Amino acid sequence: MTDRPNLPLAGKRCLVTGGGTGIGAACAVDLAGRGASVMVADIDHAAATSVARSIGDRAAACAIDVRDPASVAAAVDATVTALGGLDVAVNNAGVGVPVARDTGDTPVDEWRRVLSVNLDGVFYCLRAELNAMLAAGGGSIVNMGSVGSLVGLPGASSYTAAKHGILGLTKAAAAEYAGRGIRVNLVTPGYVDTTISPRTPEQKAALAAKHPLGRLAQSPEVATVVCFLASDEASYVTGAEYTVDGGYTVI
Ligand code: ADP
Repeated sequence: MTDRPNLPLAGKRCLVTGGGTGIGAACAVDLAGRGASVMVADIDHAAATSVARSIGDRAAACAIDVRDPASVAAAVDATVTALGGLDVAVNNAGVGVPVARDTGDTPVDEWRRVLSVNLDGVFYCLRAELNAMLAAGGGSIVNMGSVGSLVGLPGASSYTAAKHGILGLTKAAAAEYAGRGIRVNLVTPGYVDTTISPRTPEQKAALAAKHPLGRLAQSPEVATVVCFLASDEASYVTGAEYTVDGGYTVI
């Protein structure tokens, strides 16, 4: 691992949910590469452990199910115990919709599944993290949104609703905690080349064409913005929405 101490993250104690793959793993690797210590938390404990091992001494892993407030509280406690406190949290755990379906055809169980991970889960994490950070005198939280936080994604109304919900949650929490040393921001990536929905080469090409930059994002391109928002370099940034979408939302 190459150290990149160009951002003031040295010594920051971080929790990354959904850190076992994709954007979350890239965030854990990048935060650690900039000198932070990281708890990699995922419902897939084996994946989280593998990411933590690949990082080395600055990382540990734990299981978390963000749909369960008790599991979230236990993971935040485990982070505080293992790392000595909590300065940064990246709320990234999420699920996609397996099949594109119009709203009128969306099964109730799919709606509940997506909202419970992608919106309830962020609320449960935020609540536990804010209280842990208050005890430490401040911190920085980055929530993982999507272009679906800003525009409608046809065929994915549950995902769009959850990601719009996170935008509101981010702004409300940012306003509430600004005076208490905690910043809360949202990153809204376009389509990223990850496993959240397996794609054929044709599907990838069709998606890439919707981004003026002409390609899907790579996870580290999102992680670098997350690291900026997590760091003290972003000391005057709160309640903001940072779009990392290759231009998806400008056309
Ligand atoms: P992306 O990186 O594009 O956001 P991925 O599917 O690669 O999408 O990553 C999402 C991560 O969130 C996965 O590692 C997955 O295991 C994790 N995850 C999904 N559901 C939960 C959950 N209920 N609790 C914690 N982590 C979860």
